[in-house]
Amino acid sequence: FWQNCLSQLELELTPQQYSAWIKPLVPLDYNDRVLRIAAPNRFKLDWVKTQYADRITALASQFLDASVEVQFILNPQSRASSSVKTVSPLAKAELPSAEADPDAIPHKAPVMETPVREQSRINAEMTFDSFVTGKANQLARAAAIQVANNPGVSYNPLYLFGGVGLGKTHLIHAIGNQVLQDIPSARIRYIHAEQYVRDVVTAYQRKGFDDFKRYYHSLDMLLIDDIQFFSGKNRTQEEFFYAFEALIAARKQIIITSDTYPKEISGMDDRLTSRFDSGLTVAIEPPELEMRVAILIKKAGQEGIQLSDDVAFFVAKHLRSNVRELEGALRKILAFSRFHGRDITIELTKEALKDLLSVQNRQISVENIQKTVADFFRIKVADMYSKRRPANIARPRQIAMYLTKELTQKSLPEIGELFGGRDHTTVLHAVRKIAQDRLKNPECNHELHVLEQTLKG
Ligand code: ADP
Ligand code: MG
Repeated sequence: FWQNCLSQLELELTPQQYSAWIKPLVPLDYNDRVLRIAAPNRFKLDWVKTQYADRITALASQFLDASVEVQFILNPQSRASSSVKTVSPLAKAELPSAEADPDAIPHKAPVMETPVREQSRINAEMTFDSFVTGKANQLARAAAIQVANNPGVSYNPLYLFGGVGLGKTHLIHAIGNQVLQDIPSARIRYIHAEQYVRDVVTAYQRKGFDDFKRYYHSLDMLLIDDIQFFSGKNRTQEEFFYAFEALIAARKQIIITSDTYPKEISGMDDRLTSRFDSGLTVAIEPPELEMRVAILIKKAGQEGIQLSDDVAFFVAKHLRSNVRELEGALRKILAFSRFHGRDITIELTKEALKDLLSVQNRQISVENIQKTVADFFRIKVADMYSKRRPANIARPRQIAMYLTKELTQKSLPEIGELFGGRDHTTVLHAVRKIAQDRLKNPECNHELHVLEQTLKG
């Protein structure tokens, strides 16, 4: 989880800030929802406390799916001897071998007596109301609403999948919030798959599988996030299989999210993947331009800032991959504007996002797309601009054109030119065709997803 926090902070801060203040921090331990983080010296400690404590707390809570209290302390080791390498006990829990490691569990088993709402671990802020809808997520949202209105009797399980930062976690919390509102006594549990794995290990060590089963099998609704983390964890998969069967048989709702469609998760038992697919499986796509604009304006509005259309469009045009990235950019812009006491204009936005924008521009060139796609499909780069048309070449070429349209600022005629002097209608046809395939065919969507992630580094 610390790695997740780091990656997110790296995205939000300048490289200088990140390496000066965040990188030197060491997570020490996590007990009773208190996370202790060590700073290397008094100066950094004070600065981090005043500047970054809130954000770190929010991220830790998000990734550990609990309301975490963060305590910053002076690193005890750095006072004794600076040459002693600090080994974080938390780092251990992240190793793939965690299941077999008896020391790997820094956290406690779920406490049963807490009030329903808190025990559910549902984040009250992630609701349907705060979820912006567009083409990319309307199916997923509709399915989620359907399930929230008829838990256990419409689609079971509901399986939502899509790339990072596209709103999967938001959407399953929204379902939980709505059900809790309608049925306040419902026994709902949101859990991140990584946490579930840790709970299985704890149960294993304490020989506590009876309690574990009693708890999970008696829920009214189980929301399990990022199930791809079960990959290769056999004991976890076995336990989850029992829970799954028990809950479905009792008509209790299960909602699963993942970064890919069921059959694509590697290291997952076939019994499970076929069950994941037995209810409704829906993709969440990357947000289209209009949706990105709407999201930026809405999120700024929540901060009491009215973002102008031209600034929102500017940001949305340049940052295309996901909502989390948009949120990070917006935070930077707002912070920059406050710090310098200046209004939010395109000029200011360019300055505030200098690092982000240059990274984007550097990474995604047309040559890079052509090479990556050619490698992926094992064809020659030259075939990207050749006139040859066998299907095994034509399709990768269409995919490369589609990705060029998606990931660069090039116009259709420019793209035609770069792909061997083709007409812009040919490019348009390719772009539309791949966009449609992507919606209909999960395999195609997955391929594109992999390519996009590769291109974005
Ligand atoms: P995922 O779980 O797919 O990686 P998240 O649900 O964590 O993505 O979303 C990342 C961030 O973007 C969260 O802060 C979430 O609230 C926000 N977000 C995602 N999709 C939307 C949306 N459609 N409308 C508003 N906020 C969104
Ligand atoms: Mg998520």
